[in-house]
Amino acid sequence: MEMEEGDLQKLRSPHGSLSVPVVLVVAVLMDKFQHRDAYLERSFSVGVRSTENKGSHLVALKAFRPGDTVLRSRPYAFEIFPELREERCNECFRRPAEGISLLRCSSCKITRYCGKECQARAWKRSHKYECSLQRELEDRFGSLPSSVYIDVTIIIRIAILLMSGKAVNAMSSDDYVQDHDDVKAMIDHMAQMRKSNAQEFAGNQEIVRIAEHLLDMLQARSPKGLDWSLKPTEEELLKVLCKFACNNFSHAARQIWDDLIVSHGMGVYPLGAILNHSCKPNCVIYYHPETHEQEFRCIEDIQVGEDICHSYIDLAAVSKTRKEKLQSTYYFDCDCQCCKFPEELDNKLGARDGKVTEKCDRAAELLAAAGSRTEIEHALSRLKDLDENVLADRGNVDLDRLSVKSKMLQASIELGMMDSAIRACKQVVEGYRGIYPPLHPLLGLQLYTLGNLLFDDGRGEEAADVLQEGQKILLATHDRRSTMVQGITELLAEARKVHR
Ligand SMILES: [Zn+2]
Ligand SMILES: [Zn+2]
Ligand SMILES: [Zn+2]
Repeated sequence: MEMEEGDLQKLRSPHGSLSVPVVLVVAVLMDKFQHRDAYLERSFSVGVRSTENKGSHLVALKAFRPGDTVLRSRPYAFEIFPELREERCNECFRRPAEGISLLRCSSCKITRYCGKECQARAWKRSHKYECSLQRELEDRFGSLPSSVYIDVTIIIRIAILLMSGKAVNAMSSDDYVQDHDDVKAMIDHMAQMRKSNAQEFAGNQEIVRIAEHLLDMLQARSPKGLDWSLKPTEEELLKVLCKFACNNFSHAARQIWDDLIVSHGMGVYPLGAILNHSCKPNCVIYYHPETHEQEFRCIEDIQVGEDICHSYIDLAAVSKTRKEKLQSTYYFDCDCQCCKFPEELDNKLGARDGKVTEKCDRAAELLAAAGSRTEIEHALSRLKDLDENVLADRGNVDLDRLSVKSKMLQASIELGMMDSAIRACKQVVEGYRGIYPPLHPLLGLQLYTLGNLLFDDGRGEEAADVLQEGQKILLATHDRRSTMVQGITELLAEARKVHR
């Protein structure tokens, strides 16, 4: 269809000339993302694709094998949980060696570091601006829940990084450099949240107000090196926050775990956010300690052209629960193979609600609250009773049974009851086999625990078999130099020595 000059005029904005800069901005962004996509292709052999129903997602451009790295990137911004600030370096999250104390920022006296190097890195990047806000944050908002506090901090940091014009976190000089446009490119679901999650949305508005207040304080001090004309508007900050989604964590902002899957802080990973979800994932996340690099590691063969997916949620849940969680947190309806044909696994998992679940949860609470040996013994006998009388006819994969078994394992370890711990641990392993993919970190860690128990019980030969299987899994899911892989490898060698 030919276009008349008049039609063209109508297409332009009422202010005619404004359409030119808009086109320019789009062109710059295009270049930026062409550059990003070329980097991903060159460094990892993965391609970014976009379709209407899947949105942006990652596909394999070569065949991947278990243990291969699919993607690795640094966080654009990260922060330690405030309750860990006094125990761990606020930059690398490392715990100092016994008897060594952390270095405290002499100005704010709040942030702490393992040494000069970490302190200098944090200072140069953003702490020189944030330092003067720390006291105010602490005094006025220190009583807020840790998740709110960390959101305020990350929002302020993102604004500061933008205003200081810093493109951060290149992995080496010729690597792709993430900047604010990468954060902008992440999906925010702000409209859906405003509509279907009004309470959370209001909470986010409050967080943005706090961040704005602190940024105003900073501006009043007129520090050198910040371009305030770039300061994000309230709406823009709200958008960034909505990218972090429900419970403050989403596929955009992720909790940073250690080897043992304990969360230490939060990071924003724009590149990792490109990956889609599947309840039958073909890769899992590993976090590199100290650098907080997020690495997606392949856990099954991936063919050329196949979508690369990880799971946004814990897979130990029936399809209905998984779908609800994904809908309320990530605003999409999962139609992976597991969700399309859910009956078989759902029947094995059981419903996990109603009277029996309530009893199981109460027994678990009893154990959590137990302090003395007698109290732990009491909780264990309640759990045992449930296991033998109420849950006896359920399979190993049943979620109520699995939760009771893992509590029995915990109590037995605390009481030093080896036989009972080993029995419970074996059943948890069997349960995990039915729920998680064969190369899943939780299964690997559970096998490591079982191997450890067997070894301590003097059953070296059995321990070696279990540890070998665990090692195979952890070599796929973890970095070779991680403390987990090193630990299981050493124990395996010991176990082999003993039974030889
Ligand atoms: Zn450090
Ligand atoms: Zn400071
Ligand atoms: Zn699914």
